[in-house]
Parts: sequence; structure tokens; C-alpha cells
Amino acid sequence: MAGDAATPLLALERLEVAYGGIQAVRGIDLFVGKGELVCLIGANGAGKTTTLKGITGLQPVSGGTVRYEGEDVTGAPAFQLVRRGLAMVPEGRGVFGGLTIEENLAMGAYTRKDRDGIRADIERVFALFPRLKERRRQTAGTLSGGEQQMLAIGRAMMSRPRLLLLDEPSMGLAPLMVQKVFETILAVSGEGVTILLIEQNAKLALEVSHRGYVMESGEVTLAGDAKELLHDPKIRAAYLGVGA
Ligand code: ATP
Repeated sequence: MAGDAATPLLALERLEVAYGGIQAVRGIDLFVGKGELVCLIGANGAGKTTTLKGITGLQPVSGGTVRYEGEDVTGAPAFQLVRRGLAMVPEGRGVFGGLTIEENLAMGAYTRKDRDGIRADIERVFALFPRLKERRRQTAGTLSGGEQQMLAIGRAMMSRPRLLLLDEPSMGLAPLMVQKVFETILAVSGEGVTILLIEQNAKLALEVSHRGYVMESGEVTLAGDAKELLHDPKIRAAYLGVGA
């Protein structure tokens, strides 16, 4: 492999994140290669969201290293990471309910000045999500939960990310919408965007991902090829509701 291709886009080395005295992330190793779709799965309270907060500087890292494009960015503030091509879609989505869909998308491009490029990218997002195009002048607050999730992903795409961090995109959605959101994630991955997907829906996450990590009580307990994990008896019993 060429030197550059061998460097993961994101690498966590013995990452630790604590809330006061509570260690929520206990020294995890994880990497995401360029172009990969990698999921981090685990039960409620396993430490998935806290891992993301450690990556994006939203919660101080108490040990270990975050590397982005080979460089140590441990503790770097989120806005600096956004400028370097890392975009995060937080749990609960956070779209601007009073703004139209188009305005929300334009907000996602706030780090950019190329008006023509921004226009073109809004059209690119609309091509990915025709549902949003039909509703482009509607305020985001009137969208369904799943449509808001698509908008949040679309808005993150507007910063032309190299790495997209998705925090539980299926949360609170009806099964049909969950399916749509996962189709969306696959489409974005197909465009060459590297993705780290945090999910409680282990089955769907493993079905769309290349590789997966399983987190339990702040530690990575299993990692590997997503299809192999999907057939692992331990995973099937613990996360897929299938007898081992
Ligand atoms: P979920 O799937 O339910 O979102 P998760 O895997 O994302 O779970 P985290 O939100 O990372 O889990 O939480 C990991 C642990 O850290 C939990 O025990 C939680 O109670 C604790 N925790 C999370 N946020 C805080 C906080 N702000 N202060 C103190 N403890 C916290």
C-alpha cells in the first residue's frame, strides 16, 4: 500500500474520557481508514457518544491520543476539526426548525466562501435526498423525524467532509424511516465520504458497514469485519436478539 493510503484518516489510541471521577471510555483503540464505513455499536451507556465527544473536543480527553490524518488533534476544538474536513451529526439532529431546508443546508457551508460551489452542493444533496428537494422552501421544523435526520446529514455534507461522524441516526425513528436513513448513509459512503457510525441498531449498522467495533462498559470488547461480527454468536445473542 502507498504510504498515504496506509495512514488511517482517524485513529484513537488508548483513548480515555471521564466525567469527573467516572471513566466512561477506558482506553479504546479504534481506526477508520480512508473511504471506510465503520460502526461502533453497544448497549445504552456503553460509552459510544462519549467516544465521539472525546474525538470532537466536546469532552476533555483524560488519556490517550486522537489522530486525524496522522496528526495528533487530541483536545482540538470542534470548529478547527470542521475546517479540516471532519463533520459531526449529533444525536437528536439539531436542525434549525425556523429556517427552511435550503437555509439549513446553506448553514452547513458556513466555513466556505465559494457561492457557486455551495449552490452546486445544495443540488448534490437534493439529488441524494429527493424528499428534501420537494420541500426545499418548507421550514425544517415541519419535517418528520426521519426527514430531519436526512437534512442533518445533508447539512453536514455541505462542509464537504472527509470524515463524517454520525451519532445514532436511527434513534426515535419508525422502522421504515430507519431503513431510509440507512440507505442515505450508504449513498453518502458511496460518494467516497469516510464514515464512523455510532449505533444501537447493531443489525442494520453491521449490514451497511465494512468493519465494526463493539463497546461494553467503556471498552472495546470485539472488533472486526462487519459481516463476520453479524454472524458471531456472542453478538447475535447480546445485540441481535437471536439465541446463541
Ligand atoms: P446511549 O446509546 O444510551 O446513548 P452511549 O453508549 O452513547 O449510550 P454514553 O452517553 O457515552 O453512552 O455514556 C457512557 C457513560 O457515561 C454512562 O454511564 C453515562 O451515564 C455516563 N455519562 C454520560 N454523560 C455524562 C455526563 N455529562 N456526566 C456524567 N456521566 C455521564
